[in-house]
Amino acid sequence: MGYILQICTGAWNASNHSTESIIERIRSISSRIPVDRVIIGWSIDERLYQQVGSFLRSRGIQMILWLPCFSEIGGVANPDETLDIFGKRIVVPLAQPGEDFVFCCPSSARNIQIVESIYEDHFANCVFDGVFLDRIRGQSFVAGVPGVLSCGCERCQKAFLERGVDLRSVRRLYEDKGDVFFDMRSYPMSGEFELEEPMAQRFFEAKEEIVADAVSKLCGYFKDRGLIVGLDLFAPLVSRFVGQNYALITKGADFTSPCSIAGQRRLPASGTSTRSSRSMLRWLGGLRRQ
Ligand SMILES: [Zn+2]
Repeated sequence: MGYILQICTGAWNASNHSTESIIERIRSISSRIPVDRVIIGWSIDERLYQQVGSFLRSRGIQMILWLPCFSEIGGVANPDETLDIFGKRIVVPLAQPGEDFVFCCPSSARNIQIVESIYEDHFANCVFDGVFLDRIRGQSFVAGVPGVLSCGCERCQKAFLERGVDLRSVRRLYEDKGDVFFDMRSYPMSGEFELEEPMAQRFFEAKEEIVADAVSKLCGYFKDRGLIVGLDLFAPLVSRFVGQNYALITKGADFTSPCSIAGQRRLPASGTSTRSSRSMLRWLGGLRRQ
């Protein structure tokens, strides 16, 4: 098994690098290490992918489209946005100019169709071997507590209710308990955390099911087109807060890339106490309710 090389071309209309420089970079790296796949995206420059794809095919390397799904698609579409369980839009501090970290609703069939249309309109003619689905999750703590207490739109209220979770009760629980809502009974390194409050636990489990359902639909769509499907996954220790249960979400995928954060403050080594869960939440930052 060789390496996977991931190349950011810039967002939809950006052109960070020339086609020639991208091909030269791939040529240079693949001469030193065995490269099986190149994940590349997501500017909408068909010519770039046709030329890079031609080069990769001559080397027997697969070309995989890097495709954001539930965020960063505002540049080419107008998806149904996520609301928090308080019924408000989620305010996202932008890390860098040009970043679009507004997340859209995973229960919206229209949002699924938008992702499919983006592929059909901009990439279907570029002879990709597969897709690498990114942003397949809910908002993180980067937008504070409301970010992870989502999505609370009408569609999601119904989807949660079908799974036995009444978001009005979840909201009341958080309003009553505050950050104690997130206290944990156990937090093994596997990430399979167990919260003290059963309703809070069930909320995150139902959210994982909703996100996994949406990802399953996307996996099916791309697989029906003969494409390999890869998933970009959130850091394993915190993925469940954003709706990613690795076992559930990866069922329809061919490969995954779990994100790990380097050069940041260390996570608590392990934890079974309230104190350690609070440490975790402080590490995640931005806990003030908005
Ligand atoms: Zn929703």
